[in-house]
Amino acid sequence: MSIFVLPPYPLKPLSRISPSRYSALCACALKEIWASDRHLSLLPVSPSAHLGVIAHKLLEMAFAGHLADEDGMQSCWEKEVQQHESAMRNNPLERHLIPLASHASNYRVKQIMAYNMVRPFLREVGRVTKTGKSVVELWVQTEDGKIGGKIDMVKHTNEGISIIDYKTGMITDPNQNGHIKEDYKTQIKMYAALYFITCGKWPDKLVLMGLNQREYTIPFDKEVCLSIVKSAIDHFDGLNSRIEYGLDTEIFATPAPETCRYCVYRPACKSYWAIRGQNGWPLDFEGVIIEKKVLGNGLFKVELDNEGETTVIRGLSPDKHTFLNNDISEAMFCNLATDTVNGYYKETLMTTGYGSNEK
Ligand code: SF4
Repeated sequence: MSIFVLPPYPLKPLSRISPSRYSALCACALKEIWASDRHLSLLPVSPSAHLGVIAHKLLEMAFAGHLADEDGMQSCWEKEVQQHESAMRNNPLERHLIPLASHASNYRVKQIMAYNMVRPFLREVGRVTKTGKSVVELWVQTEDGKIGGKIDMVKHTNEGISIIDYKTGMITDPNQNGHIKEDYKTQIKMYAALYFITCGKWPDKLVLMGLNQREYTIPFDKEVCLSIVKSAIDHFDGLNSRIEYGLDTEIFATPAPETCRYCVYRPACKSYWAIRGQNGWPLDFEGVIIEKKVLGNGLFKVELDNEGETTVIRGLSPDKHTFLNNDISEAMFCNLATDTVNGYYKETLMTTGYGSNEK
């Protein structure tokens, strides 16, 4: 049971399912329903994720013909970084994560890779779009509009039509023997079917393109592509009718370690707190405060009791967790790291806390 209570927002029906979010929706509908309604994040987004968004924005700007040359590309990157940092500065969960250049791992490498990915389009995209050989950011959807999204690039070559999806994150999954992520395969197959539905012809090749310029060709079967889109429509209809029927929020949650790890709504998710265990789950703890004190290094040490289980957390910054200076009886901390002693945990850059007073 979570001590953090999200205001009782009613769940709103989805307006559309995008191929880029369909796998995530299958993994946990609640997370996507909350995200589609733009609920405020309760945990910080990682600096690396910010960089991924910036890299994709750079690509979009190049596709749109707004980046004429090297200088334009570099100033666009700087502007996007500044905009992200400005938003992060106003977000108490993320303001300690700026500047991104210091906090995002391999910032410089990712910046160079993003430039390498975008550079060909400084010279080419205007020319090829004018000759009709490539189309960028092509909107495709089902006839009823329930499933839709933008294809990064459709390229017409002598070998036929290629759909290209640019990825700023890792395309292969180290936990799956380095195989291409299933989510990405599903996504591009949905784009193939949506392209057929919208344009009346099938692509000949599906390509995932990484930041490192490596191309991954995805084999596909037309019937399978259409059946994924059909399943997505059924999923859309089923979810929306259950939301409109007013079913409990928990019905839509499917907690699992790998799904919840990247969810920014964990603090408010009752299903997550009810089921989470030790192995593989994020290191989040909550409980009644047994002891709270400032150590010699100026950082808080907090001892929590959760139904007889004791957790000790050290190194908590009073500047970051200002609620610790108040009179609180319960606390929750997410994104901790194990400390040297069993049952002890410590703060990380991504640690976020909440406190309450039920006395
Ligand atoms: S915490 Fe887990 S179960 Fe809850 S909404 Fe997020 S992903 Fe779903």
